Amino acid sequence: MPSTVDSAISNRFSRRSFFRYAAGASALASFPLLTEPELAMAEMPKFADPNIGIHIDANENPMGPCEAARQAVANIIPRGGRYLFNIGDELAAIFAKQEGLDPASVLAFAGSSEPLHFTVLAFTSKNRPLVIADPGYEAPTWAAQVSGAPILKVPLADPKGAASHDIKAMLAASSNPGVIYICNPNNPTGTVTPRADIEHAVANAPKDTVLLIDEAYIHLSDAMPSLDFVKDGKNVIVLRTFSKLYGMAGLRMGFAVARPDLLAKIAPLGGQNPLPITAVAAAKASLLDPQIVPTRKKQISDTRTQTIAWLKSEDFATTPSVSNCFMLDVKRPGKEVQAALAARDMFVGRIWPAWPNSLRITVGLPSEMMAFRNAFSEVMNSSSAGLTPPLPRRLAKHPFPYLS
Ligand code: PLP
Repeated sequence: MPSTVDSAISNRFSRRSFFRYAAGASALASFPLLTEPELAMAEMPKFADPNIGIHIDANENPMGPCEAARQAVANIIPRGGRYLFNIGDELAAIFAKQEGLDPASVLAFAGSSEPLHFTVLAFTSKNRPLVIADPGYEAPTWAAQVSGAPILKVPLADPKGAASHDIKAMLAASSNPGVIYICNPNNPTGTVTPRADIEHAVANAPKDTVLLIDEAYIHLSDAMPSLDFVKDGKNVIVLRTFSKLYGMAGLRMGFAVARPDLLAKIAPLGGQNPLPITAVAAAKASLLDPQIVPTRKKQISDTRTQTIAWLKSEDFATTPSVSNCFMLDVKRPGKEVQAALAARDMFVGRIWPAWPNSLRITVGLPSEMMAFRNAFSEVMNSSSAGLTPPLPRRLAKHPFPYLS
């Protein structure tokens, strides 16, 4: 291991040192931590076997871990009887070196759901609201229910076009938010919020408000990452995950990237838990594979572009996604289409109450998306599917007419 990495590990905020916070954290020991698979499962018909059918419902990556990651998992299994306490710190140090970050500002977790949840718990309260975009990833709102924070949902700007976060409205939503959550690219729309808007948020948020910038899907897009705000000492926590492009949703690995004093506030809520060594090994191998990001980014982008082009040719609008999911306007209650597809073993994603006529579609393998096209055509053209007829064309001239 290079010496810079060695010293980084010894200097950083050690995982074991979190134990000393355990007493303070015990009051918060039991809380629900809702994640994408739980939210996806909640919408699945009760009879559905998750092993049957095509699942483009949870923004997973069916490609799974890359070859080097699989090999690394196999190689480390014999050491599975050990905690290997420092292994997460080594991983974080590799990431920090690649990104030019202070290693003390990177903390590894078993996925990004934990630091997301912990950030909302640590920085929101009855008097410190959570501000979130709508439609947006709902997981932070579940944590806010635990902290008792008001949840202020701000509609996406330009929903019929760019569908980005309305940063000015988010800043105006509260005079003292605990957390402003920015998901970039956004789940479920797959859309990007311009860098200038994020800079505006960083410059104009109240002094002690935390901007939680969730970059779960950043590798799939050309959007500029927000890690530089951490380097500049801003009140920003960036989340990264290996669940999406890297195909490790089931293996579980992610990072919180922030100033050490901010990490010190979230770490006591669960950062002391040793990491699964198989996941750490796979994550390390993935970071060291120079091909995985460009190759998969292109594969997923090609499949997304082809699917969206086909939908457009069939007169169905989608959000302008740059990610592995998009919202599809089905011109009638989304629940009906979701159920009709599920009856054909085609499981698509959730419906957000703000956009009831849209479904979130995850970009799966090319073969899965071909099967989706067939099932979707069948459902939309079948009189026996029991669907509400579409809105008359003159009303449906906008992709998301219920918003107008
Ligand atoms: N953030 C966003 C925006 C997500 O969509 C997800 C999962 O889908 C997560 C965080 C959590 O992912 P994980 O806990 O698997 O890292």
